[in-house]
Amino acid sequence: MKNIILIAPPGAGKGTISNYLVEHYGYVHVATGDLLRCEIAMNSELGQEIDQIISKGYLAPDDIVIKLVLKKLEQIHNKPFILDGFPRTLKQAEVLQEIFLQFHLNNITAVYLDVDVDTVLKRIEGRRICNQCQKVYNIYSEELKPIHEGLCDNCGGVLVKRSDDEKEKMKIRFQIFKENVESILNFYQSRNELQVIPATTSITDIVDKIINEAEV
Ligand SMILES: [Zn+2]
Repeated sequence: MKNIILIAPPGAGKGTISNYLVEHYGYVHVATGDLLRCEIAMNSELGQEIDQIISKGYLAPDDIVIKLVLKKLEQIHNKPFILDGFPRTLKQAEVLQEIFLQFHLNNITAVYLDVDVDTVLKRIEGRRICNQCQKVYNIYSEELKPIHEGLCDNCGGVLVKRSDDEKEKMKIRFQIFKENVESILNFYQSRNELQVIPATTSITDIVDKIINEAEV
């Protein structure tokens, strides 16, 4: 299996798709957000440094994120991985390429989950969360809607909708993502490593398309 660099706008269903690939295809999910949170939780010297930066509202600097990604790649060596949340800039994509060279990794596919902002906003509109176990549903998705309307399949808890300002925040995040992603997509396109997959169909359909590309 090829290693996957998963690039997707916020709300494209990246988490759900990553989980599916981990459970069904033996991928290791390398999410930079998780790596940062994990380092903070360990309360290491680096973790404290990260905590100070993030708590002020800044993004973690490149060198720290790269350090964590490197450490993780060393730990999981030989297992196929999904890289999630990195690279976010062209500079990061270039550094990542050097890291891959260092690890003799050349079986890479960059997968871009293509979705427009209106589709993402509709998904947010349909999202429901269990007020007991926090399981996430979507009433507009055949695969993600609850068996009984308004109730959690797992625990029978009540499904609630998050506040409306989420849509406004999403519009801004989506816009910022779009501004940065173009140069990253061009980078992988020029290396013949880019696969654009529409993220508007069902999860299993999207996963099938990714696996088609990832099978060596
Ligand atoms: Zn529940």
